[in-house]
Amino acid sequence: MERLKQKIMQEGKVLSDTVLKVDAFLNHQVDPVLMQAIGEEFDSRFKEAGVTKILTLESSGIAPSVMAGLYMGVPVIFARKKKSLTLMDDLYSADVYSYTKQESNEISISKEYIQQEDTVLVIDDFLANGQAAWGLIHLVEQASADLAGLGIVIEKGFQDGGDELRQKGIRVESLAIIESLKQGEIQFSKEEAA
Ligand code: 5GP
Repeated sequence: MERLKQKIMQEGKVLSDTVLKVDAFLNHQVDPVLMQAIGEEFDSRFKEAGVTKILTLESSGIAPSVMAGLYMGVPVIFARKKKSLTLMDDLYSADVYSYTKQESNEISISKEYIQQEDTVLVIDDFLANGQAAWGLIHLVEQASADLAGLGIVIEKGFQDGGDELRQKGIRVESLAIIESLKQGEIQFSKEEAA
């Protein structure tokens, strides 16, 4: 997605050979107009997939997911990283190791919001080693729902998550795929889709 790539080039900051900071439009400050375009793009890529629910992870997956949900006309559920008084019982849960925070979190959703009849599109901000994606997929599996695939805003193609998911037959649509962050330079892969 050309517009997203331009934004990454203009406002992304390379923190190391493996980490890209996009706090200016996705992970801290949010650009609603770009999020709207991202939502429209996910809708066009998964139009024929019969999606009934979108599942994401708090907090950075919420903005692109809500926009996609608006275009697709389906509800958005965000998995929580911490249980609360209102989210204690009847949960589906999975363990996710966070690449950026270097810690494990148990992510959970209420059983109420995903049913066996649902076809779920999983959306996340980044795909690196695939831990977050697999955690979300495990929640869909626990609900015995169908998985439409994975919609990713930024995939780091030099890490293994995307390849492993595709090898397992999971449809992965990434709007921008980064091939390298070496020497402080952002290089995109020519392949953007699955
Ligand atoms: P994975 O679970 O695929 O290893 O990593 C994906 C998760 O880690 C995403 O949900 C995202 O929050 C975070 N993440 C991984 N790599 C990066 C990165 O380079 N930049 C930012 N901002 N977040 C990342």
